[in-house]
Amino acid sequence: MRILSTSTEDLEICSRLLKDGDIVAIPTETVYGLAANALDSKAVEKIFKAKGRPADNPLIVHISDIAAFEDLCVPTKEAYMLAEKFWPGPLTMILPKKPIVPTIVTAGLDSVAIRMPSHPTAKKIISLCGVPLAAPSANISGKPSPTRAEHVISDMKNNPFVAAVVSGGACECGVESTVVSLTGEHPCLLRPGAVTVEQLREVLPDLTVAQAVLQSLPETEKALSPGLKHKHYAPDAETVCLCGSTESAVRYIENHKDGKKTVVICFDGEQSSFADCETIAYGSPEKPETLAENVFDALRKADVSGCEKIYVRCAPPNGTALAVYNRLLRASNFCVINTEELI
Ligand code: AMP
Ligand code: MG
Repeated sequence: MRILSTSTEDLEICSRLLKDGDIVAIPTETVYGLAANALDSKAVEKIFKAKGRPADNPLIVHISDIAAFEDLCVPTKEAYMLAEKFWPGPLTMILPKKPIVPTIVTAGLDSVAIRMPSHPTAKKIISLCGVPLAAPSANISGKPSPTRAEHVISDMKNNPFVAAVVSGGACECGVESTVVSLTGEHPCLLRPGAVTVEQLREVLPDLTVAQAVLQSLPETEKALSPGLKHKHYAPDAETVCLCGSTESAVRYIENHKDGKKTVVICFDGEQSSFADCETIAYGSPEKPETLAENVFDALRKADVSGCEKIYVRCAPPNGTALAVYNRLLRASNFCVINTEELI
């Protein structure tokens, strides 16, 4: 796997690889994406192989202009309203697909997921390629998403399917895009992200929120978004989410000592309260964007430390913190403890 910079010369190399049917990890404002020409089924197949991604989990197609949007799907009035307000940016829309989109990209669905990223490097690469790019997160399926080039290198360095990574620094949002479906009677949030429910409702007041955003889906239930049913974002170590005050979380950990090597992923300023454990501070609940930016890096750092158990402090799931909470629910296999209730 080649490591490319964001120089004009290296981005030319990146776009040549993509045009030739190779796959390349690229930075975006959400997380690093593993990109392929979305119109080339053989190239897209390499993404599924490289990630070990289940074939029934469709991909998001990334574009750099509205003309491409109209080539790939049938936009509704609501779609243009959202595009006007939030594109380029961390919002994905699900719309009826046009036949040009290969079946492998949409996992056989008759809808397609589309996003116009705002990251300057991602924009430049899409324009240079002149084709839309299918790009899921550039991690091994099930693992925490990559928000730094080092995360991609750690997951993909010996992967025969990945031709290169473009090293473009840390991702600004740190969590994947907000996903809104516009194919039903009402617009529906399928995945929370940096564009919040509150912001979306300013444009679409009748937006609903899929049950799976905050709950584990029963095995029998058909997911609105196939990706919601798969195991996600999970570190190797057992992970437990702790909601409540610092004091109650300290007491909970004290009362549940089990001899396992433990890391606490805590809020800024809490480190000294968890003095018995190794700590990784990941931001402040007053600034939930900081939690989003660092959550996957913190989960990966905890794993690298070789710990057996991870406690993660959770902020109340409002605004951007809803996206963080949604990822932590899945990272912990829905193991959430309200430490206040146990006092
Ligand atoms: P990722 O590529 O890992 O960021 O995940 C993309 C997310 O978008 C997954 O949760 C997919 O299930 C969802 N998605 C992609 N295409 C569709 C679609 N046509 N309908 C519903 N959800 C989709
Ligand atoms: Mg992913």
